[in-house]
Amino acid sequence: MINRRKVIQSLAALPFAGSLLGTNSLAAQSKTAAVVSSLRRDFFKELGLRTFINAAGTYTSMTGSLMPKEVIEAISYGADEYVNLDDLQDKVGERIAELLECEYATVSSGCFGAMSIGMAGILTGKDPEKVKQLPNTEGMKNEVIIQESHTIGYAQALTNVGAKVVKVKTAKQLEKAITDKTCMLWFLNAHTDQGEIKWEEFIALGKKYNIPTFIDCAADVPPVENLFRFTKMGFDLVAFSGGKGLRGPQSAGLLLGKREYIEAARMHTPPRGETIGRGMKVNKEEVLGMLAALELYLQKDHDQEWKMWESQIQLISDSATSVAGVESEIHVPKYANHVPSLRIRWDEKKVKISPNEVRKQLREGHPSIQTVGDSKSVGMTTWMMVPGQERIVAKRIKEILSSAV
Ligand SMILES: *Cc1c(COP(=O)(O)O)cnc(C)c1O
Repeated sequence: MINRRKVIQSLAALPFAGSLLGTNSLAAQSKTAAVVSSLRRDFFKELGLRTFINAAGTYTSMTGSLMPKEVIEAISYGADEYVNLDDLQDKVGERIAELLECEYATVSSGCFGAMSIGMAGILTGKDPEKVKQLPNTEGMKNEVIIQESHTIGYAQALTNVGAKVVKVKTAKQLEKAITDKTCMLWFLNAHTDQGEIKWEEFIALGKKYNIPTFIDCAADVPPVENLFRFTKMGFDLVAFSGGKGLRGPQSAGLLLGKREYIEAARMHTPPRGETIGRGMKVNKEEVLGMLAALELYLQKDHDQEWKMWESQIQLISDSATSVAGVESEIHVPKYANHVPSLRIRWDEKKVKISPNEVRKQLREGHPSIQTVGDSKSVGMTTWMMVPGQERIVAKRIKEILSSAV
C-alpha cells in the first residue's frame, strides 16, 4: 500500500496529474498508466540501499555485471508464457552447442552450479538409482584429481555432491594418484600459470587413462575465443559464469562439452526433484537471458570494446598521475579477468593518505565508487562500468589524492 500511495503522491506532484486521478474515463486511465510506468520505481532507494559505480570488476558481492537491454528483454519475454522446462533446456542446449561449435551444452545455475551438476553426472552416469543416492557415493568412482596449485574454495562445488579431491603437483604424481576410484581430472584455468601440468598434457593424461577432464573457465571471457577453445582442445566439460564477462543473469552459467556427460548432469537438475541439484534451478527467464547474453556477446565488436577499455583506463591513469608523487601501472591479467586493469600507487610521504583510506573515500563519496586493492595500491577496471562513468572516477581519484598532498 505504501508504494501505491507513493506513486499517487508523486503523480499528484505532477502539474496535470490531479485531473487524471479525478476522472474515470478510459482515455484518462490509460494516460495515468503511461505516467505511472514512466515513473520508474526506485527500489534501491526505497530499501535504503546505495548503488555504486563498479570500478572493481565482476564480484558476486557487488552483483556481478549489468545485463544489456537485449538480455532483459529476453527475460521479460520469458515471464509472459508457460513452457516445458526440459524442452526449453533441450532446445537452448542445442542452440548454444551450435553457436559454440561443441557437442552439447546446458544453462546452469552459475559456474559453481555447472561444476556441481557436471560432477554429479560423472559420478552417477544416467543411472536413476545412483542419481537419488548422492551425496553418498557408495559403489561409485568418486575421486577427482586436481593440481595442488589449482586449489580454490570453489572446488567445494565438487565435494558438495560427494566427490573427494586428491591433490598432486606433477604429471608423474598424477599418474600415480590414479586408482580404480578416479572419476575425473579437474583444471582451474585461472591458475594455469601456477600449475606444472598445462592444458594439453592434462587432456592427454585424461585420454590415456580414459578419465573425463573438466576445466573451470568461470572468469575467462574475454577473450571470446575461450568459449570455443577448450572444448575443441579436448576437455570433456567446460564451465563459464553467465554473469561475469558474458553479462547474462548472474545466477546463470554455461556447461559445455560431451553430450553423454551433460545429459547425465541434466538428470540432477529440475524439474526432477529427488536430486542433489534440485536447489540449482534455472528458471525459463534466466535460460533465455543466458542465451540472449551469449548471442549478443558473440556478435560484439571485441576489438572496439577493448580499445574503449584501454582509453578509459588511460584517462583514469592520467588523471591520478597528474598528482605529484602518484604512479600507475596498466596491466592485463593473463588468465581470468583478462581486461585492461589499473594499479595506482604513491609515495605516502608526498601524498599523505593510505590506499585503504582512498578506497574508503571513493566508496563513501557521491556517487559511491567501488575499487579493489590492498595496503599498497588501489586497483581498478572499467569493463563493468557504464561508459561515461570513467570520467567521474578519474575526477574523484584526482580530487582525493590531490587533497592529501
Ligand atoms: C566466479 C567463479 C566461480 C563461481 O562462478 P558463479 O558463476 O558465480 O557460480 C567458480 N570458479 C571461479 C574460478 C570463479 O572465478
